Amino acid sequence: MQKRLKIIHDRIQAAALSCGRDIKSIKLVAVSKTKTTAMVREAIENGQTIFGENYIQEARKKIAEISDSRISWHFIGHLQSNKAKYAVKLFDMIHTVDSIKLADELNRQAKKINKIQKILLQVNTGMEISKSGIPPGEALDFAKKISCFSNLRIKGLMTIPPFYDAPGKVAPYFKELRKISGLIKDEKLSNVEIKELSMGMTGDFEVAIKEGATLVRIGTAIFGERA
Ligand SMILES: *Cc1c(COP(=O)(O)O)cnc(C)c1O
Repeated sequence: MQKRLKIIHDRIQAAALSCGRDIKSIKLVAVSKTKTTAMVREAIENGQTIFGENYIQEARKKIAEISDSRISWHFIGHLQSNKAKYAVKLFDMIHTVDSIKLADELNRQAKKINKIQKILLQVNTGMEISKSGIPPGEALDFAKKISCFSNLRIKGLMTIPPFYDAPGKVAPYFKELRKISGLIKDEKLSNVEIKELSMGMTGDFEVAIKEGATLVRIGTAIFGERA
């Protein structure tokens, strides 16, 4: 794993260099879904500090077992409102907010524990029926609505583009996300501090970095294939 992490860091650095970006503006979210606590520990020993999880039940167990306050946990899966209570307790950042109902519940639960919950809005840039996320054309309006929830902070946007086997084809979706983030930023809404673009996975993170990604979510290239 040490070697795999080093390769990823080298690739992130090369991608950043090739487009003149500061390497410090790009953070690696190690996606540990379905992977064991032992594997997460090994990654921590090799300097990894941010982990992404997709399933609340699995994450509750893993986070309790690891119990390390230096680690930042990000939720990147589809979140149901009835799990919002756990999500605000466990995660520093929730990448997948895509409905008012969910935002309302996250806000309510965050208020209960006196937390300002950092969130990203998930945008369905590929307009795929099978994917979660708000349609690009509704993102600004959605951000305006969410900005009234005082216990939520919108820190940016997230997208999962359509699957292509050629990474170059995803660039337009990343460009779209960046464009939308600019539109939202220009509104200077309260409770909105757009800084992050969560985009790029094992197959396409270099393209995402060229298009402005600040959080790359990488699983397979670090932990190997999932069963
Ligand atoms: C699983 C997952 C990833 C990691 O994908 P890899 O291709 O294994 O790097 C990234 N983002 C989300 C939302 C995921 O569900």
